[in-house]
Amino acid sequence: MSEGDIVVPGDALGVEEEYLPGYGVYVDGGYLKAKLVGTPQLDMIHRVLELKSVKRTALPLSPKDIVYASVEFIRDPVAYVRIFYVENKKTELQPPVSGVLTVSNISSSRVKSLYDVIGYGDILRAYVAEPGGPPYLLSIKGREYGVLVARCPKCLTPMKLRGLRLVCPACRAKARRKTSSKYALRG
Ligand SMILES: [Zn+2]
Repeated sequence: MSEGDIVVPGDALGVEEEYLPGYGVYVDGGYLKAKLVGTPQLDMIHRVLELKSVKRTALPLSPKDIVYASVEFIRDPVAYVRIFYVENKKTELQPPVSGVLTVSNISSSRVKSLYDVIGYGDILRAYVAEPGGPPYLLSIKGREYGVLVARCPKCLTPMKLRGLRLVCPACRAKARRKTSSKYALRG
């Protein structure tokens, strides 16, 4: 562990004899461990090890921030999502923050229904379209944005991209999405 690294809950940061546990740190079996996602900070004078929560440095989100979000609920023309990662700041949001995606922020060509392009449980790579929030208004216009991982509408298994089609490896169901050029599972 060194200062500036991002640690996640349960990571061992040192041993009990070295430092006292400060904010975000607890003792478990002689080890100092992280209670939250953060960056370790060392107070050498008082020999206290604490975590600076990374959430504070990533929020508020601003336009052009690139985020990962999961689709929680769709009701045309709006989808409600939970933003859990900020790619350009390499920061997890714990807890996640809320976002919305509207049918006008999907593509430069016309989209009739959100159900044609995203699905419940999908992971999206999106960007923040306007200042203000939460909820943050997101967009997936552009090749690199869209669904990163689609979930099967029947069994929720992550689907594989084959050409332009998504296929469920478990139940063989097929689906279409507005996929990102960075779609994770192929073949
Ligand atoms: Zn399936």
